[in-house]
Amino acid sequence: MKAVTILGSTGSIGVSTLDVLARHPDKFRVFALTANGSVDTMLQQCQQYRPNYAVMLDHDAATKLERRLAQTECQTQVLAGEEALQQVASSDETDYVVAAIVGAAGLLPTLAAARSGKRILLANKEALVMSGALFMREVIHNQATLLPVDSEHNAIWQCMPVAGEQRYEFEGKGVRRIILTASGGPFRDADLASLEHVTPEQAVAHPNWSMGQKISVDSATMMNKGLEVIEAHWLFGLQSSQIDVVLHRQSIIHSMVDYDDGSVLAQMGNPDMRTPIANTLAWPERIDSGVEPLDLVAAGRLDFAKADFERFPCLDLAYQALDAGGTSTAILNAANEVAVAAFLARQIKFTDIAKVIDQVLNKLPSNQADSLEQVLADDAAARRLAVELTA
Ligand code: NAD
Ligand code: MG
Repeated sequence: MKAVTILGSTGSIGVSTLDVLARHPDKFRVFALTANGSVDTMLQQCQQYRPNYAVMLDHDAATKLERRLAQTECQTQVLAGEEALQQVASSDETDYVVAAIVGAAGLLPTLAAARSGKRILLANKEALVMSGALFMREVIHNQATLLPVDSEHNAIWQCMPVAGEQRYEFEGKGVRRIILTASGGPFRDADLASLEHVTPEQAVAHPNWSMGQKISVDSATMMNKGLEVIEAHWLFGLQSSQIDVVLHRQSIIHSMVDYDDGSVLAQMGNPDMRTPIANTLAWPERIDSGVEPLDLVAAGRLDFAKADFERFPCLDLAYQALDAGGTSTAILNAANEVAVAAFLARQIKFTDIAKVIDQVLNKLPSNQADSLEQVLADDAAARRLAVELTA
């Protein structure tokens, strides 16, 4: 029986994780659930999954949750604040930590899990984008097990050379490159001139996946794929020239590994995050995820096209930040978070997102990313500048 903590249990990945856990009460129990402020969803999750702890980042939300739980039979203890997130992520009583907080807010609790040697199921790609070198060092030093939930990285991981070994090493394994697939989001066929007038409602309506708001906008700009290129660099130790992106509108092939002998291994499945979640929960075994079997005949065809930097300038910016190194990727990530929030608040246009990030990257120096203080300082500086540019 493994005890599981879900950081960000009320979000899209959190809810999908609980759905998989509920199918296997003999294998998993919930140790802690955490959320920003959604009291109603957390109350319902506590009653259904009976975690030892529920953590709300927001103190008022924690007080409300505590009051409402007191009127039920549920014994869950409520904690509040950032330190409590780190506490449940590193507790001796938890075996697995699902990192499903959105954005930079996920970094410190996920690092706490790495420092305590947990099995980390990583959805929160922003943690690696901000501080990949530091993060991977903590994982290795503390013998944590880092398993990718992001569907592309999970696919790559499943297509790696030798199943079951320390699986992040591509060096000397005959791998030519990896190919990340991208759906292209809702505007892959839109007239380029029309992108300026895109609304938040249109941007979050993803054709293939159902996800949180921020990652949905990232998918529409393809910054999501850019963040994934950086994530792949850190997870698999590959250079940017070995990480390709191809548009694949059906989202059935989740990514591929291209070997020296010409073999290209792909992982396929319906676009449903319960597959990579179940894969990382059960690894090295396989369990039912609740996902429908793939019907290839119904799918009919698999299309591929070039990912075009003119349509998707954010993808270009992410490659540039990766090549610049240091804290550039933390700056990129922070500027993107602010720009996306400003777009969702209707302060800036869809096409301004890339412009804001570009300006922030150009104005701020990149520093060595060898300390957490430096990463957090450059993250904060990028946010301040991006806020100015979007005001
Ligand atoms: P979401 O917005 O649906 O959920 C985010 C969760 O984080 C919620 O539980 C929320 O309460 C919590 N949260 C938000 N801000 C917080 C803060 N400041 N402090 C503490 N908790 C906070 O997001 P999502 O779509 O589930 O995505 C979560 C992460 O997984 C992201 O990093 C995303 O890139 C990654 N991811 C998501 C998908 C997907 O299909 N949704 C796929 C791959 C990767
Ligand atoms: Mg992904």
